[in-house]
Amino acid sequence: MLACRNRDTSPEKAVRSAVHSMGLRFRVATRPLPDLRRTADLVFRSARVAVHVDGCWWHGCPYHSKPAKTNEGYWHPKIAGNKARDADTDLRLAEAGWMSLRFWEHEDPLDVAEMIAAVVRDRSSEAIC
Ligand SMILES: [Zn+2]
Repeated sequence: MLACRNRDTSPEKAVRSAVHSMGLRFRVATRPLPDLRRTADLVFRSARVAVHVDGCWWHGCPYHSKPAKTNEGYWHPKIAGNKARDADTDLRLAEAGWMSLRFWEHEDPLDVAEMIAAVVRDRSSEAIC
């Protein structure tokens, strides 16, 4: 079995360090909701923002996830399953009052970090009940 690469893929690392250098603090690869068995890559608990940096292939990026010519019967349902699970995760987070942000691993980490920072600051400035 290959080592699990979910956690320290480099695009995600680049986003993390960019967000960190903007002075924002977050938890890494943790569950936003304790009773939902799904993790997010960056979790801002007080702002209730969960960030996912999705791999192009596994999550069906429109630019980089070309339909597999071989084994299509195997890959297609797998990727479709991942996409459905992503959508379900977003829905459950929204129901719990969280904002789920998704980016592709091909996006510029600095652009991604700026978008994350804007959302987190915006939500942090709202009155917390
Ligand atoms: Zn892509």
